[in-house]
Amino acid sequence: MFPSPRLRPVYIGSEIYRRPSYGPKHPLAVPRVSTCTDLIRAMGWLDEAAFVTAPLATDAQLLRFHDAGYLAALKRSEATRRVTPEDRARYRIGADGNPVYPEIFSRPATSAGGVMLAARLTAQGGIVHCPGGGTHHGRPDRASGFCYLNDPALGILTWLDQGLDNIVYLDIDAHHGDGVQDAFHDDHRVLTISIHEAGRWPYTGAAEDRAGGSARNFPVPPGFNDSELRWLLHEAVLPLIRARRPQAILLQAGADALEEDPLAKLSLSNNAHWLVVSEIMPLAPRLVVLGGGGYNPYATGRCWAGIWAVLNGQPIPDRVPPAAEKILRGLVYNRAAGRNPPEHWLTTLRDAPREGAVREDIERLATLALKETLPA
Ligand SMILES: [Zn+2]
Repeated sequence: MFPSPRLRPVYIGSEIYRRPSYGPKHPLAVPRVSTCTDLIRAMGWLDEAAFVTAPLATDAQLLRFHDAGYLAALKRSEATRRVTPEDRARYRIGADGNPVYPEIFSRPATSAGGVMLAARLTAQGGIVHCPGGGTHHGRPDRASGFCYLNDPALGILTWLDQGLDNIVYLDIDAHHGDGVQDAFHDDHRVLTISIHEAGRWPYTGAAEDRAGGSARNFPVPPGFNDSELRWLLHEAVLPLIRARRPQAILLQAGADALEEDPLAKLSLSNNAHWLVVSEIMPLAPRLVVLGGGGYNPYATGRCWAGIWAVLNGQPIPDRVPPAAEKILRGLVYNRAAGRNPPEHWLTTLRDAPREGAVREDIERLATLALKETLPA
């Protein structure tokens, strides 16, 4: 028996995220989901009855979106820890930053199983946090952008297969949610909204790109701050969502748009992520929150742990208790910033807000997104 997410939020995790993955030199070689899980336990925010271990997705489930030959190639790579030249060329396994690693199939299949379970558990409504999900670049038949499978697309398909026909996917990762947008191109049952850094890989998601009417894109400039996020949220994103009155919202809450992230140049504090979560919670009877990017383990773990607090209405204390501080002090981060982490990474969850001017670019994006959308 699974706990009901209608009674209180359910947390889906797995011990698989604790194992080393992607290889020591990869940006994803940092503990993210396990840090989040450990922090919320140390904060006293996780009733174990609300914790569910993500199941491995079955082949039948994965075939709902993925190509059989590609799934077989991922399993072959897991079994042999190698990739054939043919599989590399055809499926981009072991290429383009998508390394072969010991759990190259079972780890993404666990994330997919978790997100699909979240969609099933919320059939009648409720809230689920599944920070292991969020692999928004995954393609039906190839790996892309550190993503082997596309768990957000599989979660949305699970909802659609249950008869839902009005779903909003909101993606606040620093990178455009291209795999999810393309999965529902022209499918008016799904609106995909992505806020991402302009001019950054995968270089898609222009403001004019609406994917046949089923997408809105907000490519924001470097330095994007909390004030700009709040403005965009209130002036464009929330009006778009409210106008749809969705049956379900899937939020990809990648943490790489945070100021401290090494891969992107956006300047949000985690207050921005928590604001998005609290503002969309009342807008649909079903909400599933995923993880995504996030390459600084301190910033990512603190951000996602705070999301669980917001979902549960838990106040976030100014200073974390010793058990949580111990987890943060135990993190290893092989970058310059990790050698001497600033004190607030170790003793707090909440960042100092990063307010600033709202630039004209941001206002232009909002105007463009609402054009021909809302009734006059
Ligand atoms: Zn990203």
